[in-house]
Amino acid sequence: MKIHAISHALPQARYQRCPQCDTLFSLPDVKSNQSAHCPRCNARIMNGRDWSMTRLCAMAVTMLLLMPFAYTESLMSIRLLGTNIYASLLEGITQMAQQGNVITASMVAFCTIGAPATLVGSIAYLYFGHKLGMNLRPVLLMLDRLKEWVMLDIYLVGIAVASIKVQDYAAITPGTGLIAFISLTLLSLVTLIHLNVEQLWHRFYPQPHPNVAREKLQVCLSCHHTGVADARGRCPRCHTPLYFRRHFSLQKSWAALIASIVLLIPANLLPISIIYLTGSRQEDTILSGIMSLGSGNIPVAIVVFVASILVPFTKIIVLLTLLLSIHFKCEQGLKTRVRLLRVVTWVGRWSMLDLFVISLTMSLVNRDQLLSFNMGPAAFYFGSSVILTILAVEWLDSRLLWDAHATGNADYTD
Ligand SMILES: [Zn+2]
Ligand SMILES: [Zn+2]
Repeated sequence: MKIHAISHALPQARYQRCPQCDTLFSLPDVKSNQSAHCPRCNARIMNGRDWSMTRLCAMAVTMLLLMPFAYTESLMSIRLLGTNIYASLLEGITQMAQQGNVITASMVAFCTIGAPATLVGSIAYLYFGHKLGMNLRPVLLMLDRLKEWVMLDIYLVGIAVASIKVQDYAAITPGTGLIAFISLTLLSLVTLIHLNVEQLWHRFYPQPHPNVAREKLQVCLSCHHTGVADARGRCPRCHTPLYFRRHFSLQKSWAALIASIVLLIPANLLPISIIYLTGSRQEDTILSGIMSLGSGNIPVAIVVFVASILVPFTKIIVLLTLLLSIHFKCEQGLKTRVRLLRVVTWVGRWSMLDLFVISLTMSLVNRDQLLSFNMGPAAFYFGSSVILTILAVEWLDSRLLWDAHATGNADYTD
């Protein structure tokens, strides 16, 4: 369903501004199977999907019960040089940390354990906190950001890729924790699809219609509420300060983008994995690793290529052209570039795939002198680069793009 840009709307209409391009429009009632999109930039404004708190809480409890098994039980095992070796998620992370890569290990730990656990905790907090009359705002604000960091689905694909890689060295059998891990992943996906933060804001903090001229309405980038600032200049719903445009948005976004470009150079030139095979040392960069994977299994090599090379580079180029277009007031193909940015943002998290594969392979193939698989220095640079591009998108106030488009000469940057 597409909503209409306002001209003279009905008196009952609810006015809303698009958090991405600042267009003011009237929003009709959205039914449970419908979603509403911005008439100008096509951003999704409203999503009809909504589950009751009880249902979400039931999902959270099931996830909590599955977690110990999914994280500590073996996901797969191999028989190598006469012994059985089991790999679990936790074991992979510990291996990474023990080899001196604590930061890279914590990146993996955050995306696979930290974020899902926070999701479970937040749902439980909302359920009980609401009954006890506690302040739910910080949790609601965090939930919206947390969604893209829950990467269990990517780790599941990582298990598949790692098992194909390891097949070169030994026969592989699925472990006892795999069922628990797959169930946990499916539950987290279903929960994230049905967790409608916008609806939760409406339910817990309903807001009256502000009685002001509609030109004075401002949209809050944190909770997406359209209204007027309270006496202290804050959003009336989530209590974060309300600005006309986000402060230092361009500076922060540029800084994160430039840092991620710089980090991408060592990430691609240095080895990402080092294999010791009976005394000889074999180093692989991201690209050479994909090449050797491609000689055995082309579809898997394509998946890893898209995740580790195509997506990070496209994301950086798209972000670069968008930021430059703000400075040069360039209007050409803005809609296409914004749409492309949404696509690469959506698939951008898949770039972490390679790190998950390395963490799993490390815990499997580790027989000291005879055969061992180690992480190379590129892994840290690559992981940091991926995280910085996610932050560069997060910090960019996309309304600045449309400002440059609309006025051609206005200067809204602080
Ligand atoms: Zn819009
Ligand atoms: Zn707000």
